[in-house]
Amino acid sequence: MCKWILAYVCVAILFSYLSLLHPQARIVLPDYQRPRLAIELSGHIIFGLIASIPLLNFRLISLTGLACVLIDLDHLTVALGFPVIGNPDHSIPFAILSGIVLALVGPRRMRRELFAIGFIVLFAHISFDVFAGWLSFQLLLPLNFAVFTLSTYYWLLLEVVAICISLMAAVSVKAKFRGLWD
Ligand SMILES: [Zn+2]
Repeated sequence: MCKWILAYVCVAILFSYLSLLHPQARIVLPDYQRPRLAIELSGHIIFGLIASIPLLNFRLISLTGLACVLIDLDHLTVALGFPVIGNPDHSIPFAILSGIVLALVGPRRMRRELFAIGFIVLFAHISFDVFAGWLSFQLLLPLNFAVFTLSTYYWLLLEVVAICISLMAAVSVKAKFRGLWD
């Protein structure tokens, strides 16, 4: 599992530098504020754990909970003083890339779940961000820097989507195991 976490951390940090491509660099303050730090951290972990329960695997569920916090490593670019937008990893291309990397470093039999975790983490993480009042995301970065502003009540929809992705991954693995397809 350490290998999976290390791989996720590397992608999260490297991907965040893509925000330097933004034509109009600007700093957005990170969503972690000291008095609320414990709530933010535990909130992200809990949302990640809940979303990944259908995977029914302790290591995969723990990875998802942890990665739901690690995705915010994209704040490092701001913390290091780069004039960039704040949440570059909160994007669908990042979910795809992190999923591919996790699938590649994991064992073959877990590839589907590990790929799905890239998406489960993104949706569960954004769900708590929205719940906590952080509503603007560049969901297509670095393909497009348009800002998508979500409504507060989207948090529930996003968490349900994350749970559904877990379910689909779990069902797909079971079906493969039984030889229903593949
Ligand atoms: Zn965030």
